[in-house]
Order: sequence, then C-alpha cells, then structure tokens
Amino acid sequence: MYHTFRINKLRLKPFLNVISDIKKIHNVDLSDISKVTNIRKLLRQKGFPVQDGFTSVTTKCTICMEEKTEQKKTDNKLFVNKTTGYFLCPKCNIHGEWNVLERLMKKSKLEGTIKDYIDDLQQKIDNFQNDWKKVLEETTSIIDLSENETLELFRLFEYPYHHEASKVLSDVRVSEDHTVLYFPLKNSLDKVVGYHKVQAGREDESESCGLYAAGLFHCKATRTSRNDQAILVPTIQDVLHLAASKVPGTLIWLNNCSLPPVLLPCLENYQRLCLWGDWDNMRAVAEKLGEERCRFVRPTDGLVTATEAAVANLSLKTLVSEAKPAAHRSITTFAALRDDVYAELTNIDKVRGVKWRRFPGLTRLLGGHRRGELTVLTGPTGCGKTTLCAEMSLDLAQQGVTTLWGSFEIRNSRLARTMLQQFAGVPLEQNLQEFPKFADDFQKLPIYYLAFHGQQPIKVVMEAVEHARYMHDLSHVVVDNVQFMLGVGDEREGDRYLRQDAVIAAFRTFATARHCHVTLVMHPRKERESEDLSTSSIFGSAKASQEADNVLIIQDKRLTAVRGKKYLQIAKNRYSGDLGIVPLDFDKDALSYQSKKKTKSKQDEPDKLLDECFEEYSLEVHDSNNARTPKNQKNKNKSNNADTFLSDILNLNRTR
Ligand SMILES: [Zn+2]
Repeated sequence: MYHTFRINKLRLKPFLNVISDIKKIHNVDLSDISKVTNIRKLLRQKGFPVQDGFTSVTTKCTICMEEKTEQKKTDNKLFVNKTTGYFLCPKCNIHGEWNVLERLMKKSKLEGTIKDYIDDLQQKIDNFQNDWKKVLEETTSIIDLSENETLELFRLFEYPYHHEASKVLSDVRVSEDHTVLYFPLKNSLDKVVGYHKVQAGREDESESCGLYAAGLFHCKATRTSRNDQAILVPTIQDVLHLAASKVPGTLIWLNNCSLPPVLLPCLENYQRLCLWGDWDNMRAVAEKLGEERCRFVRPTDGLVTATEAAVANLSLKTLVSEAKPAAHRSITTFAALRDDVYAELTNIDKVRGVKWRRFPGLTRLLGGHRRGELTVLTGPTGCGKTTLCAEMSLDLAQQGVTTLWGSFEIRNSRLARTMLQQFAGVPLEQNLQEFPKFADDFQKLPIYYLAFHGQQPIKVVMEAVEHARYMHDLSHVVVDNVQFMLGVGDEREGDRYLRQDAVIAAFRTFATARHCHVTLVMHPRKERESEDLSTSSIFGSAKASQEADNVLIIQDKRLTAVRGKKYLQIAKNRYSGDLGIVPLDFDKDALSYQSKKKTKSKQDEPDKLLDECFEEYSLEVHDSNNARTPKNQKNKNKSNNADTFLSDILNLNRTR
C-alpha cells in the first residue's frame, strides 16, 4: 500500500479566470510518516546512538559529520519528531521529511536528488545569513537607544515600559527611523534562524522571515536566578510584563499560541514548561510538547493573559508558581476539576464559543461555535448545504478559527471559488480587476483543504485529519459529506447504516479527544417533497442525532408552498437546549445566506418567526383544499402542526 495524498493550503493566484490554479505550500506525504519504533529501529541498525526526548528522538547528524570531522558532541544533534518523523539539525540547519533521512541513512553514498535537496537548503541558509547581516547593518540594538528614545519607542508600539525593558530586549533591533522592530528567532543552539518584523501601527501585518520558521524569540528578566523553566506566552506584551515582575525562567514569545512542530526541538531541553494564554490553544500546545512537563496558568477572575493579570495588579510571580499540571488523569476528583469549572464560569462568554457574524440568529440559538463538539448539517438534495456550510465556516475562519475542509463531493477549486465569492461579497467574474486583492486577503485565512475527492476509506481520512491537526492546530473540521466514506456497492441497506454509524463514531471520538469541532454534512435518507425533514427520519439510524451536539436541518419550503421560504432549523442543541429556526435568504451575487439588515427586526423576535414558519406550514396543507380557509380553522391547524413539530424535537431529545 502506498498512498500519496496531500494537505494543501490553498493559494489563489491572480490569474484572471484560472481560479482553479492551486499552489501548494504545505505538501505533506503521509506515506512518509513512520512510527517512532521504526525510526528507532533504523537508527540502531545503522549504529547511531539514539536518545529519547519529550517530542523527538535525537541522534548524530550525518550531514554535519560529512562536512567536518571535528564537532563538539552536543552540537552534533539531529532531532527526529516522534509523531511525523520530520528531522532537523540545528547545527547545519538541514531539515526534511523522514523519507529523506531514511534514504540518507540507508545509502552509503549521497544520492543525486538528496544532494540537490541539501544544496538547495544550504543556498537558502546562506541567503538568510546575508539577509540577517543586512538587517544588523541597517539597524541598532534597543540597548543603544537613549532612555528617552526607548520610552518613545515603547509608547509608539504600546509596549509596557519599565526601566530595564531595554536590557531584556537587548537582542531586538530597531530601524533607523524607530518605527520597525526586528525580533531575532533563535533555534535550540541559540543561532538566529529567522526574525519577526513588527511595524508600528501595523502590528497585524507583522511578518516572520527566515528559515522555515524554526526559531523562537526568547529572553530573560534581568538578575533572576538560573532556572530550567520556560514560560510560553502569546504576545510580546506578556513577555515584558513577566520580565518587569522578575519572573524567573526563560520567557518565550509563542506568537498567537501557535506551535508548528518544527519548533519543538527549540523547547526540547526544558524540563518544565509553563503555558499562559488562551486555554483552548494552550491545551493543543501542551499536547504537542508532552503534557507531563507542562503546567498551565488558569484564568483568574476572567483574566486570561499575563498582560490582563498585570493590569489588574496581580502578582505574576505567584500565578506562575501556582500553575497547575496539564497531564490528563483517567480518574479525577472535583478538587482537581474545580479550577477548570471556575475558569469556565468566569470566562463564560468565551465558553459560549466563537460567534457567527453573518448569522446572528444562529449565534443567538447556539451561543457560538465551540471546540470539541459535533455538528450534523443536513437538508434535501440541492438545497445548498455545501454553500451554507462554506459560508458558516468562512465566517469562523475570518475570526481566526483554523479550519480543515474535506470536500469529497465537489472539487476544492470550486469550493474555494464559492468561498472566495462569499468572502468578496460580489460576483467575481464581473469584478476581475479586484481579483488579486480579494485573493491576497482570502489567502491569509487559516483554511486548509484535504486533497481528496470521491470515495475514501474512513481510516485514510482520519489519518489525514489527525495529521493536519498536529501540523496546523485545527479547531474546526468540515466533512462534505459523510456518504463518501461509506464505500460503494449494492449491499443491504443495513450494512450501509452500520458503516455510517462507524464514521460518525470516529468523528465523535476525534472531536472530543482532540478538542476540535467537527461539522458533518449528511444527505437525508428519505426525501418526500410534501414533508418536512425531521430528525427521526433523516439519518437511517439514531446514531447521528444521538452523537451530535447540534443538528441543523435546511428546510426548503419554496417548492411546495406559495409563501414558502428557506430556513435553517436547529433541531438539536445540547449546549443550551434552545431550538428554533433561522431564515435563509439567498443572495445570488454573493453566494451568501447572510442575514440582511432589513430583516433585523424579525430576527429579534424568534417567536414571531417561528409562528410565521408554522403558518406557512399550515398554509401548505390547505392550499390544495381551500385557499380561503376560515381564519379560526387555520389557527387550529396551525397549533396542531406546531405540536407535531415540537414533539418531533422532543422525541429527538428523548433518544439521548
Ligand atoms: Zn547537521
């Protein structure tokens, strides 16, 4: 078996009508991922010393050895990631997929392609060194500025100032006009392998340059004792606050709490890590780092970051010393949970999840989009499930929710086109002159696409999803749709439902265990045009509605009723139990179901809306008999239908 598949982050090139041109930045061959046992075995077979670390096994680097025979022992360390097999030597900066290293180890002589690969990397390393040299020449160190200049600089960047701040940031370079800062990113040998450039007033557009982002910015508070602990925080402001409070340990700036696996070797030597930042993100970080050495600073009174705690005059030193372990225990007590419970209570808005900006009605009912949940979206064929799902996920991605799309039914290029048009809000073909601008902005969104199409075995899909989660810290996975993992063939219907249950169970487990939201798009089992879809009849078995936290059904009444509308029914909501409907008005130009401003007053009255919906429902029944049904009779029927509708929902909840 030799599968080759890739996870692409879409990049849309500014070609006029060739939106389908997809450039791959992330190109990961899963077939190359080897289990850690295989890695160890091969290394031992070849006579290399193997050392087990938290996230990597380390061994000697053969590439450095070939260059020079005399190397200091500690310098000559090659890290091999235990999960992916990705290798990295901080000394010579050579890095790559496991299969490259495997070939290097197995062959006594350097292969042509491998040699080219290494030469190419070395060229990039030289280029970066020149680049960094230029930065050093054109800038000065913060420590060389006068006190007034430093004060002015910190005011400009809105950094917290204290009298030793420039000493703490002595590695940081300042441009001549004092508007740009360069933070050096160092690897495990303290070599500069990149830099983070921040421009005053444009902090959002700061960029990282250098070698494959394999370095971190770190510093220490002045005159603190030596310490094998590192404190990881999401912003430079947090770093400065901790330094001002003289918190001992290495202060590491983990930009936005994101930890690409290539950074793991930089943190391998720390015995104790303290994570202080957004709980959801930091949990994913701890899992990668090895939970046994991680501790968390939990939110206190709703104060999530070190900066917030510092502004509230809390002692950062105390908070760090009281950080709690991250390690999971299979059996726990309330005493161990109380901090988590308290953190949830004081941080309730966050707990409700990320709010949809385009669908305020949905936000009002569901609270928001939360990690660790399973959502099932269904509706009749051709009702726009994919389009709606694309827009809902786009909305979240625009707010920083890292999303993986598994689109098995329609090609990624078409899906990306839909999302781009939703993003732009105008028909693309009539606005080609603006295409490069839209595409450039869209490209910055944290959306990844699985390069799968058509039928796929669930095992292969899960492997890819797991891998993507590890690499890109996903918080949302969309699968469109489940039917593409059930295989083809004309077996009995019952077998098909068994397989469907297995797929749902797999994603349910993934969502909970990996603390990631999963949205499954499903086709309904039966469609009779005259009937509303109800949760009890759609999935073929009860599994989907039992396992799902949220069940969303698109109801399209336009074909069957005179005044019929399309709406989204929230048929299950485990979080708050609120059920109801959200109207869907389609804007063809923007490919959008986004609620219009004019309907705003309606959205504010969900009850009224629900009544309207029932009214339509009853109209539909009576249209054929007598369009002039007396009003009182109409109302009677209306309440009857409302009863069936509600009992459907109640039955669904009872199946739990
Ligand atoms: Zn090396």
